[in-house]
Amino acid sequence: MAPALSPSTARVLGTLIREGPTSRMQLARMTGLTPGGITRAISPLVDSGLVRETAARPAGGRGRPATALEVQADRELQVGVKVTATGLVAVLCDLRCRVLAEHHEELRGQDPPTVLEQVAELVRRWCREHPRVRRAGLSLSGDVDPSTGQVGYSPFLGWRDLPVGRLLAGMVDVPVVVENDVRALLTGEHMAGTGAGAHSLAMVTIGAGIGCALLLEGRVVHGSHGVLGEIGHVLADSAGPRCHCGNVGCVEALAGEAAVLEQMAGRGHPGLTVPEVVAMARAGSADAREVLAGAGRAIGIGLATLANLFGPAVIVLTGEAVGGPDGDYDVMAPSVREEFARRAFGSAADCELVLRPLTFTDWARGAAACAVAALLTSRAWNGEAAG
Ligand SMILES: [Zn+2]
Repeated sequence: MAPALSPSTARVLGTLIREGPTSRMQLARMTGLTPGGITRAISPLVDSGLVRETAARPAGGRGRPATALEVQADRELQVGVKVTATGLVAVLCDLRCRVLAEHHEELRGQDPPTVLEQVAELVRRWCREHPRVRRAGLSLSGDVDPSTGQVGYSPFLGWRDLPVGRLLAGMVDVPVVVENDVRALLTGEHMAGTGAGAHSLAMVTIGAGIGCALLLEGRVVHGSHGVLGEIGHVLADSAGPRCHCGNVGCVEALAGEAAVLEQMAGRGHPGLTVPEVVAMARAGSADAREVLAGAGRAIGIGLATLANLFGPAVIVLTGEAVGGPDGDYDVMAPSVREEFARRAFGSAADCELVLRPLTFTDWARGAAACAVAALLTSRAWNGEAAG
């Protein structure tokens, strides 16, 4: 595999990946490098064909066309795979995280050898069909250490203490990086989505559990003990219901999927799904509206806590109760925003809240983005330092 990029070269390549065609002057401003530094940083990228000069006008540029530098994004491809409890979603992406192909399949089982063989078969097939595949990223829920590829605990799959990176790397011919799925989603959004290029960004996912990942000062943070940003277990109501963590009144105990469905059952509406509760609310059901508003207020408290502690520029909130694939997050959004505005302290309230649905494709693209990010940061591949 190619030697690790120098820090300046990685910074320039990362900027070009996020920004698209960019002039040398803009690059110097964005990276803080001198013009001479830009020339030195670019040189190995041009030599290897990863970057070329174009006559195209930079995006948003005015006046006469300037020479721009542009990543040849299709020269190196990556496979991204997101594993859920029941299936896997895979994408083939270029260096700018544009999705070129997509594949979904059911898991044949949940035990590690079966799942990893299924992932490896797909990676091997795409490597055969697309000789430019250079690396692969795998994302799954739970406690994942990307520096070692070790999965401490993945509750949906029931995996514990498993060297997933090393095992998968032994089954395929490209370097592999393994990451927690919410951090992977955040990485993808930072590289090519809503929060592209943001200095600080948080991703919050509402589903069976409440997931949170943070990017501060340009870097995804991992925490010292594998736990960080657990806003699902922030106290939202000291008189609230018991949480599965053993405490009372956590955000997750009020706003998680199970909590919403239990509250609906308690009001005489058993056996629903979250999209059905949203549909009921929209059709005028007072019970559904109250339950979702209560969940929204709890989430608003969690998000305000996040903004007060870390001050991200943008928080992206996603999940089924927030919005289905059609972007219908009208029901919960007002109570999330009201509570957030009430609790965010001072200018922390300036944090932009983006409520938007993200698809399984976005999650898989996040895994591919982790592979690109590992190229840029010389982060570990398969548990071994790159380079
Ligand atoms: Zn809890």
